[in-house]
Amino acid sequence: MTPDAGVKVTQPYELLEQLLAEERQLREGRRIKMALLTARLTVLKTLESFDFRFQPSLDRHRILALASLAFIERREVVHFLGPPGTGKSHLALALGLEAVRAGKSVYFTPLADLVGALAKAEREGQLRERIRFYTCNALLIIDEIGYLPLAPRSANLFFQLVNARYERGALILTSNRGFGEWAEIFGDPVVAAALLDRLLHHAIVIAIEGASYRLREHAALVPEPLRSVTRPVREPPREPRRRGRPPKSAPPAETPE
Ligand code: ADP
Ligand code: MG
Repeated sequence: MTPDAGVKVTQPYELLEQLLAEERQLREGRRIKMALLTARLTVLKTLESFDFRFQPSLDRHRILALASLAFIERREVVHFLGPPGTGKSHLALALGLEAVRAGKSVYFTPLADLVGALAKAEREGQLRERIRFYTCNALLIIDEIGYLPLAPRSANLFFQLVNARYERGALILTSNRGFGEWAEIFGDPVVAAALLDRLLHHAIVIAIEGASYRLREHAALVPEPLRSVTRPVREPPREPRRRGRPPKSAPPAETPE
């Protein structure tokens, strides 16, 4: 047999392999596109496009450890805290994308839309079903806690949802306000305490203390009184760490706070 004859025999298989790989890639692309729409992840942000040098307070390894998605398996709550423009939504969306790529069911919603939908469902006698809808995803991302204070009924509906999801599914929450301000956001210290009780058990708190990426070229134009609004949100004191050092080579694990 000549070498040429060998080439002729293997070529169709190689071509078939290539076509199948392309088909798989196409299907995977279609699956991801559909899943992103279902998840309402319509703004695409990636971890690759996040400039960690711009936020030196942020531990890159800690974020990359989150991208392993073990927090979803452990049904933990990830809190991104920080002033406006520090990348909280970007990181939440990027982790949502990683989860979709990994085949997890995800749903993204700003808090205002979430409580609006719950209130509508309650009016229509569909609250139980709506809460079930928000508890069936492996990961629920609730963006923008604290930008607007909630009416008591809305705070109560949010509590019902958090309670239904507690220890059943992972959450990512983003907020520009510290936990000390939750009584003000939710209009009632008792509701705020009950929420925090559930949302800080099995939680990973990532506080970003930095400048706004949006304002990076125009920070000087923001009047002084408003600059103080963008002051860093303080991370709550950490509980004592578990004994034993993490291995030196591996990135730090996502230890619950
Ligand atoms: P926040 O939710 O904290 O208010 P965003 O995540 O919405 O801020 O960030 C505002 C804009 O700046 C977005 O377009 C986001 O993609 C971008 N951005 C923020 N931080 C970074 C960063 N470190 N690297 C790259 N882009 C960033
Ligand atoms: Mg945001």
